[in-house]
Amino acid sequence: MLSNKNKKDITIATIGSHSALQILKGAKDEGFKTLVVCVKGREKPYKSFNVADEIIIIDSYKDFFKVEKELLEKNCVIIPHASFIEYVGIDNVKDLKIPYFGNKNILCWESNRDKQREWLKDAGIRIPKIFDNPKDIDRPVIVKFHGAAGGKGYFLAKNEEDFKKKISFHPESKQYVIQEYIIGVPMYAHYFYSPLTNEIEIMSFDIRYESNVDSLGRISARDQMALPGVDPSYVVVGNVPVVVRESLLPEMFDMGEKVVEHSKKISPPGLFGPFCLEGVLTPEMHFYVFEISARIVAGTNPYINGSPYTALKYDVPMSTGRRIAREIKNAIEQGKLDLLLE
Ligand code: AMP
Repeated sequence: MLSNKNKKDITIATIGSHSALQILKGAKDEGFKTLVVCVKGREKPYKSFNVADEIIIIDSYKDFFKVEKELLEKNCVIIPHASFIEYVGIDNVKDLKIPYFGNKNILCWESNRDKQREWLKDAGIRIPKIFDNPKDIDRPVIVKFHGAAGGKGYFLAKNEEDFKKKISFHPESKQYVIQEYIIGVPMYAHYFYSPLTNEIEIMSFDIRYESNVDSLGRISARDQMALPGVDPSYVVVGNVPVVVRESLLPEMFDMGEKVVEHSKKISPPGLFGPFCLEGVLTPEMHFYVFEISARIVAGTNPYINGSPYTALKYDVPMSTGRRIAREIKNAIEQGKLDLLLE
């Protein structure tokens, strides 16, 4: 825990990857000192873009805990992102002694597909159907392997027979989920919930650019059939900014509110800070959520200079990274920092 004196002299820190540029730039813009921990060879962007007052270099991510004492002495607050959780290890996050922005307990809901589903469903969010038994497949499905990095190996199937044939190519993969395939546009909604104001903010939206699925349309169906082994994969290679139809915004707000309200029941004090609902929008304008990320997502990176939505609300360019720093600053001013840090 930070002493009262130290609460005024915080350094915002994170691991150099994912959305660190945005987090550090936002922290600087809000007047904080910044520090980034990088694995050797990955420090160049943080030097070049001049977002970090200090760079600590480690040989491997496993060494993060070796520098924890130094970070504590430097009065750091850690801002987690997906790569931070992956590299430090979800089971190790709870043992971190450095003050951590967010609710650590929500990670166990977010990291387990079944628990995520329960959370979303009980919050009243529309989700794709899950088929427990391949015999019941009566529509297009996507088969997702647990822990598959970036959607590698996912496949589509149209019925039980098709499923059985394709799953036989993955004898090593025992754990998977058979999920209804929603035909529409994949869309990612970025939110921020402030426990200080009790308000949900829409920060931005993005569309993931995924390889190779987003380029298959460049190859005609005839050529796809002729080429061996052209199966879709869903590896994210970048993020494309998008604004949604304005008429969809009320529903988007409503979904964000429901997810946060329910999180307060399942994992008090609930989800706060940045989060993302990841889904597919159908031609009927139904948004099916297939995943929730309970922290900053890389899809906010196109908006380092703010998004159309944050431009409406703030008089400075407000990225999600900066919004986190602003929340910490507001909490310090109100003497409520303990609400945000674990
Ligand atoms: P995931 O690993 O769950 O994030 O899924 C990776 C990618 O697969 C997503 O970004 C979407 O492009 C696609 N996808 C996942 N679930 C579905 C679904 N139920 N319907 C359609 N596309 C999906």
